[in-house]
Amino acid sequence: MSESVTAQSAKSKGASKYDLLNSTVFFNGRFQKYAETKIGLLTHALHYGTAVFEGIRAYWNEDHKQLYVLHSRPHYERLRASGKILLMDLQWSTDELVDVTLELLRMNNIREDAYIRPILYKSSEEIGVRLHGLSCSFAIIVVPLGPYVDVDSGISCCISSWTRIDDNMMPARAKITGVYVNSALAKTEAIQNGYDEAILLTMDGHVSEGTGENIFIVRDGEFITPPVSDNILEGITRKSVKILVRDELGATVIERPIDRTELYIADEVFLCGTAAQISPVTSIDKRLVGDGKVGPLTKKLQDLYFSAVKGYNLKYKDWIVSVY
Ligand code: PMP
Repeated sequence: MSESVTAQSAKSKGASKYDLLNSTVFFNGRFQKYAETKIGLLTHALHYGTAVFEGIRAYWNEDHKQLYVLHSRPHYERLRASGKILLMDLQWSTDELVDVTLELLRMNNIREDAYIRPILYKSSEEIGVRLHGLSCSFAIIVVPLGPYVDVDSGISCCISSWTRIDDNMMPARAKITGVYVNSALAKTEAIQNGYDEAILLTMDGHVSEGTGENIFIVRDGEFITPPVSDNILEGITRKSVKILVRDELGATVIERPIDRTELYIADEVFLCGTAAQISPVTSIDKRLVGDGKVGPLTKKLQDLYFSAVKGYNLKYKDWIVSVY
């Protein structure tokens, strides 16, 4: 059910006409062709995982004939914060980066749902594990992208046998490429064991997050999500969900540690993230969540979320920026 985003799959997901190699990217301050962008074999980030990145979504609204980029500023601000943790400076202001993103989407004539991938990486071509005294490079790539995980029928999850990395080992709060080995181990284990997605626990056994999503549970009408100190990425969708739950559903959001077995008895569970959007979880470790169907509050939240991100709800117009 889940799909990955690769150079090949960018062509295959309802995006048959998108020619990635011939697409335009932003690389170190210039617009150039993807195929003409070369990265050296000894690039530090390739060997040591020393890069930080983002995933930003753009939604095509056929009624408005408009492409809306979602939360571009918070994503670039988080990229800057991730870079700071790895001693890398983003040379461009957030306004400049948003402008470049809009320009790239226009240059590639993107008129469908899309994904924007900015990456800031240690580009020195030399041997030696460290963070200091290295040059860095920056790129933005755009690709068409449909659903990443199922958002309609609900997904099955397992608790991973892999533990979420701890802040004092590798900070989950920064979106660091190397950190995603932890997610990749968990994701592949889940898929190979017949599940759609993995949920990782912290070292002390509390629920942390999915491999590329934050998690919420609903118990007795209250929405509960792990605190930022439980080794999660401080999700931008998580923040939007909190706003929608409070302002639109009039329900309470509680941030507190969640036990593993609370997942088994929750009324509803969902994952959320830029790529995953709001993805209902209908079973965990072979136990049905609620009655095993998409929960009513999750469904309401999904409707509210999609209406906001696709530009239908003007109350949330500051979440999006128009491309055309
Ligand atoms: N956790 C992880 C590990 C992620 O990779 C993501 C996706 N960026 C999220 C949570 C959700 O974050 P956001 O809502 O900002 O996309």
